Amino acid sequence: MSKEILRREVVIIGSGPAGLTAAIYTARANLHPLLVDAPVNSEKQTTPGGQLMITTDVENYPGFSEGIQGPELMEEFRKQAERFGTEFLETWITKIDLRERPFTLETEDKAIKAETLIIASGASAKWLGIPGEAKVPEGLGGHGVSACATCDGPLPAFRNKHLVVIGGGDTAMEEATFLTRYAARVTVIHRRNTLRASKIMQDKAFKNPKIDFLWDTAVQEILGTMEDGVTGVRIKNLKTSESSVFACHGVFVAIGHKPNTELFKGQLDMDEMGYLKTNGHSMATNIPGVFACGDVQDHYYRQAITAAGTGCMAALDAERFLDSLPVTMPAGDEITIEGEHITPDHEKIIMPDGEVVSNKPEGVIAE
Ligand SMILES: Cc1cc2nc3c(=O)[nH]c(=O)nc-3n(C[C@H](O)[C@H](O)[C@H](O)COP(=O)(O)OP(=O)(O)OC[C@H]3O[C@@H](n4cnc5c(N)ncnc54)[C@H](O)[C@@H]3O)c2cc1C
Repeated sequence: MSKEILRREVVIIGSGPAGLTAAIYTARANLHPLLVDAPVNSEKQTTPGGQLMITTDVENYPGFSEGIQGPELMEEFRKQAERFGTEFLETWITKIDLRERPFTLETEDKAIKAETLIIASGASAKWLGIPGEAKVPEGLGGHGVSACATCDGPLPAFRNKHLVVIGGGDTAMEEATFLTRYAARVTVIHRRNTLRASKIMQDKAFKNPKIDFLWDTAVQEILGTMEDGVTGVRIKNLKTSESSVFACHGVFVAIGHKPNTELFKGQLDMDEMGYLKTNGHSMATNIPGVFACGDVQDHYYRQAITAAGTGCMAALDAERFLDSLPVTMPAGDEITIEGEHITPDHEKIIMPDGEVVSNKPEGVIAE
C-alpha cells in the first residue's frame, strides 16, 4: 500500500513548550505548521505536552502570578497554537531522511515532505524504575518525588524539610547544592564510595554544611502516602546487603537526562551526550533548513521558559530561511534556502554552482 504524501513548509517534532511556541509563531506567520508528536509511552517517556505534563505546580513560568499546574499550562500553549491553525498529528516517526530538501519523515502510513524541520523532541529525565517513583496515582511522582530541583525545590512541600538526592554526578551535586537554599538538610545517596561529579562540584557539595552523604547505598523504594507525601526511602547498603528505612520528606532523582535524538543519529551533529548542536546565534543545526530548540539542544538551562524562548527563535529562523534570508549556521557561515553560503567574515557569497561572489557591491571575485 503506498503511503499518503503530505507536503508542508514547516514540520515541528514535539509538543512541549519549545515545539508549541514554534507552532504559535509559524502558524501566526501563515506557514501552516504540522506538529508531529509521539503518543503517550511510559517506557520512552513521551507525552504530548512534554515534561511539564508529569509535574504539578509550575511557579516560575512568567505570566502566572499564582503559579499554574504543568498540564494546565501546556493545555493553554496547545490551545494558542490551535487558534492560529496548527495542524497536529499524533504518531511515531519511523524514519527520517535529511539528505535533501524537502526532508522526508515517514510514519506508519504517511510520508511527510518538509521544506523546513523544527526539532523540539526534548529530553527525558532518567529514572530509577523503583516502586514509589512513578507519577501520582501509581507512585508519589509530583507529590514529593521530582527530577528537577530548580523547578520543584522552592515549592512549599520541600521547604525546611530533610530531602534526599539520588546520584553521584554533576547533576546530583548541582541539585543538592541548590536544594540547600530551601531545605533543612540534604542527604546525597550514592551507589559508590566516590563521586563521578567534577572536582569543583564535589568540593562545593563537601563544603556545604547542609549536605551529607550516604555511600555504597542503593535506594530500593520510595515510601509514603498521598496524605503524608514522602516519609522515607528503603535503602540497601551494597557492602553489607543490609536493608533499612531512611526517613526524609522529599526525593530528587538526579541521575541525568537523555536527549530524545535517536532518530537523528548519523544525520545531525550532536555533542558527546547526544544533544543536538546549534550555534547560539540561531537555532540552525548543521543541515540548512533543520532547526532545533528546547531541551533537545540544551542540557544546561532546561527550563520551560528557555525552551519556549528557543522555540520562538527556531520559528523565526525557519521563517527567515523560507523567505530566502540568510540564517547563521553552526560553523559561522550563513545560508539561504537557495543554497547561497555567506562566509563567516561576510566577505564572500558562494553560489550553489560554486561561483564565489563578493558580498560587497563590486561583484565577482577572481579565484
Ligand atoms: C518533574 C519536572 C518538573 C519540572 N518543572 C518545571 C518548572 O516548574 N518550571 C520550568 O520552567 N521547567 C520545569 N521542568 C523542565 C521543563 O519541563 C523542560 O525544560 C521543558 O518541558 C522542555 O521543553 P521542550 O519543549 O524542549 O521538551 P519536552 O517538554 O521534553 O517535550 C518534548 C516533546 O517531544 C516529544 N517527543 C519525544 N521524542 C519524540 C519522537 N521520537 N517523536 C515525536 N515526538 C517526540 C514528547 O512526547 C514531548 O511532547 C520540569 C521538568 C520535570 C521533569
